[in-house]
Amino acid sequence: MTEKKRYKCVACGNLTRFDVVRFQRVREFHHFTTGGDLEIEDEHTIEETIESVTCRWCESSKEVVEI
Ligand SMILES: [Zn+2]
Repeated sequence: MTEKKRYKCVACGNLTRFDVVRFQRVREFHHFTTGGDLEIEDEHTIEETIESVTCRWCESSKEVVEI
């Protein structure tokens, strides 16, 4: 799994609620049972781009910083 970043909204002080739009390219090991059930056992992030982070409280995207 990817390490999740924490954010802070400088405008209103929000630390907990954000809309994050991200593009992620992953490689997964798909393990099927003979019955056809799928279990994803290994997930490796090849590439990840955070496209935008928006505060859910004040809807600002310019004031959000990584902490
Ligand atoms: Zn805010």
